[in-house]
Amino acid sequence: MKLSWEPYTLDLRVTWRIAHGSSDQRHNVFAQIGQGEEAGFGEAAGVPHHHETQEGILAYLESVADRVWDPFQIEDQLNSLPPGSAAARCAIDLALHDALGKRLGQPVYRLFGLNPERAPQTSYTISIAEPAVMAERARAADMPILKIKLGATDDEAILTAIRQVHSGRLRVDANAGWDREQAAAIIPRLAEFGLEFIEQPLPVGDIEGLRWLRAKKLGVPIFADENILTSRDVAAHAGAVDGVVIKIAKTGGLREALRGIHTARALDMQIMIGSMVETSLAVTAAAHLSPLCDYADLDGPLMIRNDPFEGMRYDRARLVLPDRPGLGILRKQVPN
Ligand code: MG
Repeated sequence: MKLSWEPYTLDLRVTWRIAHGSSDQRHNVFAQIGQGEEAGFGEAAGVPHHHETQEGILAYLESVADRVWDPFQIEDQLNSLPPGSAAARCAIDLALHDALGKRLGQPVYRLFGLNPERAPQTSYTISIAEPAVMAERARAADMPILKIKLGATDDEAILTAIRQVHSGRLRVDANAGWDREQAAAIIPRLAEFGLEFIEQPLPVGDIEGLRWLRAKKLGVPIFADENILTSRDVAAHAGAVDGVVIKIAKTGGLREALRGIHTARALDMQIMIGSMVETSLAVTAAAHLSPLCDYADLDGPLMIRNDPFEGMRYDRARLVLPDRPGLGILRKQVPN
């Protein structure tokens, strides 16, 4: 089976602003392995702060285009890929799993032996804006679990505004926005708002800082996100954090995500499965692994205007996995 691809620009519903930048569009790539009924599909997310560009993804796919792909040899085929764009390798991994499920007539969650009823509810993300605007978006979303982006402006003012409209579960993500002293000072104050956990309080790579922060027992569990790419990174955080955020765009697909999940379990860490700004294709793929995780942050498709796929559905925050073979995604005739 041959590999082909298609660049695709995602238009965001609202400007996506987090601690290290903002955007109105994202530039992803869809990959396809094979043709016709049994073709498998994958997605590579262009993520500026992970140095994943559409050009880099396309160059990687081009570099392996002359290979012959076989979904019955997934492990060997993925292990033989050259290093480079994790997003591009993710697209290939997803396309192979999609094709395998279609050949076997089974959804991907069943290939992994998972019960789709165990998928955790997803959080809904509010990116950074004026506190009143964030609160209005939170109110309009009417979702049971919110994830609030922090680390760029007045974090306490934001959470004060959010708590006026949302009494449910709340988690926050600083996206590496604080240094050690700032984090140690602000986390006890943020704890007053009743937080499930805080993602990536410190700059990327500061594992000892996370260990130092966690030892202070500041009243909010600490998760690493940007620090964690592969299962090796999970192992390197043993004892330094309460949990890790696994994303298929960082691991290079479902196989390495699964290894990261098992590594975290073995080290007594909690796990959230997350997504980048991705369509229903990649987010449905991640959702197939979500029954293994404690938390889900799989709201990517809710953030974009022109999702060309349908797959997993949302029953408010509940993830309803498709039971079609493979990833179970379908291309829409007209993107909405
Ligand atoms: Mg995060």
